[in-house]
Amino acid sequence: MKETYPIPNWVTNYHKNFMLKERTKCFKTCLKCGETKLVFKFSLDRRNPDGRTNVCKACRVLEAEKYYYKNKDKILIKSKKYRDTNGKDRSEYFKHYQEENKERLKENASKWYLENKETIKERNLKYYQANEEVCKQRRKLWIEKNKEGIKKYNREYKRKHKLVR
Ligand SMILES: [Zn+2]
Repeated sequence: MKETYPIPNWVTNYHKNFMLKERTKCFKTCLKCGETKLVFKFSLDRRNPDGRTNVCKACRVLEAEKYYYKNKDKILIKSKKYRDTNGKDRSEYFKHYQEENKERLKENASKWYLENKETIKERNLKYYQANEEVCKQRRKLWIEKNKEGIKKYNREYKRKHKLVR
């Protein structure tokens, strides 16, 4: 066991005992690395009689890291598995739900839109004014990205409306 601070020779026995007692209160030896450290280098633990864990914080962090790296693949596979099974189910469920409630959802959305039209407009305008440059840039990018889609949409739109007329 390493002594963290040596007690000078000139200290009387009474004081020595007192300091030793104090020292056990202020210091603790880690069971893992064997170093004597200040107690606040140990996490609080109510189950321990002295109120601190027997392994220092640094060692616990190392342990956790080691555990993670040792089981990294397992952990990753586990979470991937979870995503694969539950994620698929969820999206399936969602799709199904949307399919089932298509009309109602549409109705709700348009109703909500109509009810909040003015607020939405105002909010959008405010946002646009505050972020004009960003919005312009974003719009440009969006157009650039969706060029083909927009062309197609316009063609379809023209075709449909000609057919109607
Ligand atoms: Zn330690």
